Amino acid sequence: MPNVQEIISNIAGGISKKEEELTNKAYNFAEKAHAEQKRMNGDPYFIHVFETAKILAQLGMDAKTIAAGLLHDVLEDTKITGEEIKKEFGDDILFLIRGVTKLGTLKYRGHERHVESLRKFFIAMANDLRVVIIKFADRLHNLRTLEFLREDKRDRIAVESIEVYAPLANRLGMGKLKGEIEDAAFPYAYPEEYAQVEEIIKEKKDSYQKNLTEVRMELEKELKKNKIKFVEIDYRIKHKYSLYKKLLKYDMDIEKIYDIVALRVVVDTVEECYRVLGLVHSIWNPLPGRIKDYIAVPKPNGYRSIHTTIFTGLGRVAEIQIKTKEMHAEAAYGIAAHFAYKEQGNKKIKDDKNKFKWIEELKELNYTPGDPKKFIDHLKMDFFNDRIFIFTPKGDVIDLPEDSTPLDFAYSIHSDIGDHTFGAKINSKMLPIFSKLKNGDIVEIITKKNSRPSSKWLEYVKTSIAKKHIRSYLEKNSLLAKLKSFGRS
Ligand code: MN
Repeated sequence: MPNVQEIISNIAGGISKKEEELTNKAYNFAEKAHAEQKRMNGDPYFIHVFETAKILAQLGMDAKTIAAGLLHDVLEDTKITGEEIKKEFGDDILFLIRGVTKLGTLKYRGHERHVESLRKFFIAMANDLRVVIIKFADRLHNLRTLEFLREDKRDRIAVESIEVYAPLANRLGMGKLKGEIEDAAFPYAYPEEYAQVEEIIKEKKDSYQKNLTEVRMELEKELKKNKIKFVEIDYRIKHKYSLYKKLLKYDMDIEKIYDIVALRVVVDTVEECYRVLGLVHSIWNPLPGRIKDYIAVPKPNGYRSIHTTIFTGLGRVAEIQIKTKEMHAEAAYGIAAHFAYKEQGNKKIKDDKNKFKWIEELKELNYTPGDPKKFIDHLKMDFFNDRIFIFTPKGDVIDLPEDSTPLDFAYSIHSDIGDHTFGAKINSKMLPIFSKLKNGDIVEIITKKNSRPSSKWLEYVKTSIAKKHIRSYLEKNSLLAKLKSFGRS
């Protein structure tokens, strides 16, 4: 058997002796801890955590994160305790594993109104962005082995990946991961649509690629003639799911989509980007309105590049993307790129700085042009500091303001449940319905037909929706009482 740790060390690139020891130790520890377990497809369970760690290594994550990736399932799936992890690997790695385990309790079961809560929860629970990235890697490998799962579970995971994980990866600028997650989930989440897109691609891909091969040859020749240095020119084929979304926007008309296959020119400097653009436009005529300078004006998620679409003759068009090496790496890894190429020395300081930095960046990334109100709302919430995330027994997430009670929870599920709340189980314990909830509590509402709101309830609820329903109930009832007393007199 090849020395598998070597793969990790190699991908991570130039790691120190200490870091190598750490990943090796985590590797052996995880292999032993999962020794008895098998996955659905019969593979040893360890393969899953190893593949997760490999994805992290490819993202250029640091040794601690890779080690936590190897260990990410030991708390949940083996007899290993937090104490043992702490003793062997320290607080930091224990913190990362706990975070990943916690995120594992998330369940999205297609309730439209819970999607945003779920996304917020995801971020809020992960005080450290590395937790989110480990969870992404874990999910990506699970998606790649989805075929062995039970069908209902498979569908849930696939849809959840598209609705929750991929948009988050995109917000964090991790375009490559986002595309990979979507494409792995697409065939399971929307099988018919997937088959449709496959068909379209099969039909068109070759002609697009042939067209681009000619463009590429001509461009390379001209670049050399004009002594413009380039690092590489390659094709990028649009991810299937994002092609599907674009097709939806254009009435499934493939002729309106110009970037199914694009030519990507990578250069060293920004100046060279513009020189390449000039050269391209001097050879081919650009399509008006299709020149996009995301270097001067980056996309909200940080994406930078120059795009242009050109006429290549015979009525055909081609998209060309021009960027520097750094932009290329950033577009692929987004926020993860900030953890990549590990810092030498003064590690502690930079770790702390990174912690704050990602929150800063997230605030900016959350800005969606055209939706400034939403952005301001997010900021008002002080990035979830004043929100708590409460689970239903089935794992749906409801986000509530701090100090909310089971009554708030009941009303945000349904007014009928709220109106008939009789009792509440918080983490399986019967507790008063006026108890203050804590982040992560699992709450079950006990209803009774003849249970009714009272004016006292108003003093204990936080959310306006609960207040509204209680008031309207009380008003209606006092009116009824009046009418009744009229009737009697
Ligand atoms: Mn896992």
